[in-house]
Amino acid sequence: MAIKKIERNLGFWEKTYLPEIAHGLRLTARHFFGNLLIHIAHSFGWAKHLRGGETYQYPEERRPLSPRLRTLHRLTRRQDGSPRCVACMMCETVCPARCIYIVGGEHPNPQIEKYPVSFDIDLGLCVFCGFCVEACPEDAIRMDTGILEFSSYSREGMVMDVNKLLSLSPKQQTTDNRPQTADHKPQTG
Ligand code: SF4
Ligand code: SF4
Repeated sequence: MAIKKIERNLGFWEKTYLPEIAHGLRLTARHFFGNLLIHIAHSFGWAKHLRGGETYQYPEERRPLSPRLRTLHRLTRRQDGSPRCVACMMCETVCPARCIYIVGGEHPNPQIEKYPVSFDIDLGLCVFCGFCVEACPEDAIRMDTGILEFSSYSREGMVMDVNKLLSLSPKQQTTDNRPQTADHKPQTG
């Protein structure tokens, strides 16, 4: 099949590219000065209903989170307050980062085989894949705290133990879908 070549002769100004460069500069300048004026107005408390640039003004302004986003882990409890975890090791086994360390103990209740004497997650290794949540047969571990901001000055400080994991609560179901404040940071030091 023959290929038909379409020839298009550029005019003098098109060959110089100057009109398109000017058009691009005009567009950029319009957005720049428009956003600048809006941000100046915001700093005086005016025109708060107008949004400036399309970027989030972190850390004052937080990006909304998807309800499905996997955030910091927590361990859930039974109605009597004891951990739902039965130390079955499913999460530890499935974890691709090998960052869950569980020591199981005999549970006093004969209906429940075991409980976690210790349950540590090393957040410095975790890749937040959610496999541990998927594998758990007891709905004992969830990643719904809404906490994304945690840090530590040491590797040891990134390890969450069973008490910390049990102390966390799910993200509040509100219309404000921003990240939770990390009240329960891994210990630093
Ligand atoms: S989210 Fe993934 S990497 Fe992190 S503890 Fe769970 S299974 Fe392991
Ligand atoms: S959190 Fe779930 S999967 Fe992991 S040991 Fe406990 S019961 Fe088993």
